[in-house]
Formats: sequence, C-alpha cells, structure tokens
Amino acid sequence: MRIHELAKEMGVDSKALIEKLKKLNFPVKSHMSSVDKDTAEIIKHEVENLKQREIEQNVIEVDFPITVKELAVKLNKKPSEIMGDLLRQGKMFNINQALDEQTASALAYKYKVNLRQKPTTEEQVLQVEETQELKSRPPVITLMGHIDHGKTSILDYIRKSTITEKETGGITQHIGAYQIRLPKGNISFVDTPGHETFTEMRARGANITDIVILVVAADDGVKPQTVEALDHARAADVPIIVAVNKCDLPTADVDMVKQQLSKHELAPEDWGGQTPTVKVSAKTGEGIDELLELILLQAEIMELKADYGRRAKGVVVEARLSPGKGPLATVLVQEGVLRVGDWCVCGTELGRVKAMLDDKGEGTEEAGPAAPVEILGLNGVPNPGDQLYVVSDEHQGREIVEKRREEAKRKKLAPSSHMKLEDLYKKVQEGEVKQLKVILKADVGGTLEAVEGSLRNISSKEVELQLVHKGIGAVNSSDVLLAEVSDAVIVGFKVTADASVRDLAKSKGIEIRVYQIIYELIDDVKAALEGLLSPHVKKIFTGRAVVKTVFSLSRSGKIAGCMIEKGKIARGAICQVSRENEVVHEGKIRSLKRFKEDVKEVAEGYECGIGTGYDQIQEGDRIDAYAEEVITRRL
Ligand code: GDP
Repeated sequence: MRIHELAKEMGVDSKALIEKLKKLNFPVKSHMSSVDKDTAEIIKHEVENLKQREIEQNVIEVDFPITVKELAVKLNKKPSEIMGDLLRQGKMFNINQALDEQTASALAYKYKVNLRQKPTTEEQVLQVEETQELKSRPPVITLMGHIDHGKTSILDYIRKSTITEKETGGITQHIGAYQIRLPKGNISFVDTPGHETFTEMRARGANITDIVILVVAADDGVKPQTVEALDHARAADVPIIVAVNKCDLPTADVDMVKQQLSKHELAPEDWGGQTPTVKVSAKTGEGIDELLELILLQAEIMELKADYGRRAKGVVVEARLSPGKGPLATVLVQEGVLRVGDWCVCGTELGRVKAMLDDKGEGTEEAGPAAPVEILGLNGVPNPGDQLYVVSDEHQGREIVEKRREEAKRKKLAPSSHMKLEDLYKKVQEGEVKQLKVILKADVGGTLEAVEGSLRNISSKEVELQLVHKGIGAVNSSDVLLAEVSDAVIVGFKVTADASVRDLAKSKGIEIRVYQIIYELIDDVKAALEGLLSPHVKKIFTGRAVVKTVFSLSRSGKIAGCMIEKGKIARGAICQVSRENEVVHEGKIRSLKRFKEDVKEVAEGYECGIGTGYDQIQEGDRIDAYAEEVITRRL
C-alpha cells in the first residue's frame, strides 16, 4: 500500500501524514513509498496516538462554565458552528448559554484543543513571584504552658525591660504581638491565649511560630496542660526551648522539673539532652537575658528569611471591633512590606489599610517581615489565623473575597473529612499512608498506660501507630484541634466528650470513638491497622499467547502478532515472555489490538497484536499473562 493511499484511507493529507511519520522517526521518502499491510496498521495506530498527544499539549485556559460565545472565540470558530455541533449531540444552546466543563471540553477536543480551568485569581495572587530581596528576618516566638506558670509575666517582663522610657506610653495598650529590639537582633513575640489558639491558627494554615518557649513553674512541675502544649508544639514541628519559671520561690525544685521533662523526651542540654533549658524568674528577671540569647542563637541556626520585595502577606493574630475606629486587626507580617494605602484581603474581608499602629501604639507607614501591626480599614472583623494578602487593586480583592465567601459557605455544608478508622484501608491503598495517628484519652493514669501498651503491641513493622497526644480526662476542644491539624483519630477510653466538643468535631469532620471495654477498642484499631498492612499479591495464570510474527515500530518498540493458545489475555495484565522454557522478560501487556481496534481482552483461538515493551521478542516466543489477586494478611 502506498503512503498516499494510506493517507486517503485515514482521511488525512499525504503531506501531513509524511510530516507526522517524520515526527515518529518513521523514515518515508515520498507519498509513493509503499508499506505492507501490517505496517500500515501500525502507522494508523501510532498516528492516532500522536494526534492525541498533540491535543493534550494544545492547552487553552478558560473559566468554566463557559458561554457558547466565549468558547467560539477561544476556539477561533463561529458561534453557529459550535451551536451546530451541540445540536448534532441533541443539545439546544443559544449563544449566551453556558456550557459545563465536560460538554465544553468534549467539544473543544474535536477541534484538537484541550481546555483547562484557568488558575483562579486567588491562586495567582498567592503565587506571587519571588523577588531577589530575600533577607534574614526576626524570629517569631510563642510561649506555651500550664495556666499560672507565668507566660504572661515573662512576656510582660521582657517587654518592660527592653523598651526605653520614651516608649512606655504605649505599654498600657495590649496587643496580641510585639517586637523587641536587642543589640544582637530583634525578636517578635505572639501572645496567643493558649495552645488551642496556636493550633487553631495552624488549622487555618497559619504557621507563624518559629520557636516555642515551654514555660514550666519550678514549684509546680510538668502538668497535663504542659504536656498538651508540648504535643501541640511537636505536632507543628517547632523547636522548643524550656523556661523553668518562678526560680525565685523557696519551693522551686528545678531538678524535679528537669527529671519530669526528661520523661517527656525533653532532656535538658546540661543533662546530656537536646533541649535548651533555662532557669528564669519573671519576678526578679533572673535568666531572662539568657533566655533571649538562646532564642537568638536558635534563630541563627534556623537561618530565618523573608522576601522583602514581594507583595505583603501576613497573619491575623487578633481582631476586634472598635466602636470609634471600626474593625481593627493585629497582623503579623510574614513576607514583603505592608504599607498604608495597600488593598488587601483578609480571610473573607476586604479592605484598604487606612492607618497602621505599631506595637507601641504609634502610627507607622510600613511594616516588614515579623513586625506586628494593628491595621485599620478592613470592612469586617477577620478571625485569628486568617491570612492577609495584599492585592493589586479593589477589583482583584473583591473577586477573591467573593470566591472565598462562597467556598466558606460550601465548607459549612460539607465539612472536610479527616481520618476515620474505617477509611484507613482505602486511604492507605490510595496513597502511601503508613501511619495511624491517634489521640488517646483515658479516665485515669493506669488505664491510659494499659491502653497505650495494648495499642503498641498490635502495631507492626509495616504500620506505625503514632500517638500524637495522650492525656487524662474528657475529650476536649484542644484534642479536636490537634486531631484536625495532624489528621488523627480521637480514641477515648471510659471518658466522654461534651456536646460542644462533639459539635466542634462534627463541624471539622473529626472522628471521636469512645469505648467502655478495652477489647472493643483494641479490636477496632486492629481492624483498621489490618487495612494498613501491605496486602500480599498472588499471581493467577489467565492465558498464553504464541508469537507468530513480529513487527517493528520505532516508537512503541516491537509488536508481536500472536495467537491466543489458552485462556485469555487482558490489557494491563502482568506477563512473562519465555523462550524454550526460559523466562526472558517480565513486564506488562502494554497494548492489545484486534485489527485496528484497541481491545481490553482477547480470548482463546483469536489472533491479536501484543505490545510488551520487550525489544528482543521473537517468533515462537510464548507470552503468559497473569492477573493479580490481593490477599489481606491477618495480624
Ligand atoms: P500564665 O497563666 O501562665 O500567663 O501566668 P501568669 O503570668 O498570669 O502568672 C501567674 C501567677 O504567677 C501570677 O500571680 C504571677 O505574679 C506569678 N508569677 C509569674 N511568674 C513568677 C515568678 O517568676 N516568680 C513568682 N514568685 N511568681 C510568678
């Protein structure tokens, strides 16, 4: 068969066909060159594949749904042509009617165009290009610990001792964050009311804290909330410095605290551990300088940097409505420099920065990375943890805010689903999840340890059971937040969760399982873990083909013309090629054809073309195909 005849049969121009064959490295001299029948088949197949690939690459970005008129413009066609196409599919559309993604894409495909959703403006805004102004920035510190152990006192002491007389005017005013200036560098402190807020901010995507200072009172030691705070900090992967506070008290027992800390894998450096630990007193000021030194040292190791040249981005630390000034938000700038006059979106609020106050209550025109500022000018009160982005203008801001509001509404209707015990198996199959994260709560210390021990016993080499947090007492909102950010399941033994905690969990799609009997708890977790184990795969023979002839395809390699001798062969099946009873290749059935048609399966007694990707395949070789059966192993 000559090339021009083949081109005619394929309904293409012979010149175009020769061009395509060149692309496929198929040497054809002219349209008078001839090819045999098998080669012609292969050419048809390959050209079709090439066409598909070309369409895949011919991407036009649009916004779905798209009107007939807009689509016509994008495809460079007349609207009447598009309407005609639709009519042939039995669909009546007028020029201004919108087509959904599926309909529009199918139609565009016909014109060799691959439609894709345009990145939303929000994504574009968020992906602001980096500039060359990457410079070091001050660290952002959060203090955490048990109530009354002295977080506020330490913050106050640091603040008072580091500001000058002149600046004391603003000190009465409390804002959620402040920055201190030291000869060796600046440090920003964020005063979140507790570790719940810290984690809530993380759940909103705001990881603002670089270093956590865990405050433990020397007269009281490690308490449940200390452990909670510690686990929250660990889940966030933030370095920890321990401040043993109230060292001025006669009842202070620093060694006792250090011992307790060692039990929680927080062995102090002077005891051969890894945790920088410092004795302080918020009352006398003892050790505070050393604490600040340690912070700067840790920050130096972390090489914290920010891009000063890009459009500003920050996080809301706290926000309120001022009767006189309207919505006020304390924002910690993270990247870029925020300026008065900037248009910004903040959560679902839009605004233009009318004025900014620094942490001393003084007006300022701009604020750089790690600087906390109170901003005026938002049209509503945002939530702590909301991210602030500077946008190019009001129009762009409005578009993003509207999209975010719609999104928020949708999310309310369908809370995002987090890890559920019964979904584990599926999740593991889909991804590479090899961990079951658990937050464990029990009624008393003894049972907590017993349950933990049993749980650890049923985990295996292949599946890691990770206890994100364990504690005594009812499941609380802090557990739910921690489960949210770490994608953990909450398991309770002989404990309850009150209605508000259950509601919170429900709204966030977090599973709480409460048990009264230890075996039930263990059985359930076992069942979930079973799903986590890698299944064992068994090969089952399905059929055999004998190679009658082999033809070469420069792109797809060799294709074997075969006869199915036994059983059946399916596309995608695993296969073995053998020659004189020796296996010469193992792989997959990559392509399977009957005449021109791609087929899924070919049965005994039929001929077919098989592509295995094995280049040395020969006439007389045998191809054995296998199916895979998954066998779940028991623990
Ligand atoms: P927070 O709940 O962790 O913020 O703790 P606070 O800072 O409110 O402190 C609780 C109580 O401990 C207050 O009465 C403080 O005066 C007291 N306190 C805090 N730090 C020290 C300290 O270093 N020494 C002494 N003696 N008392 C302190």
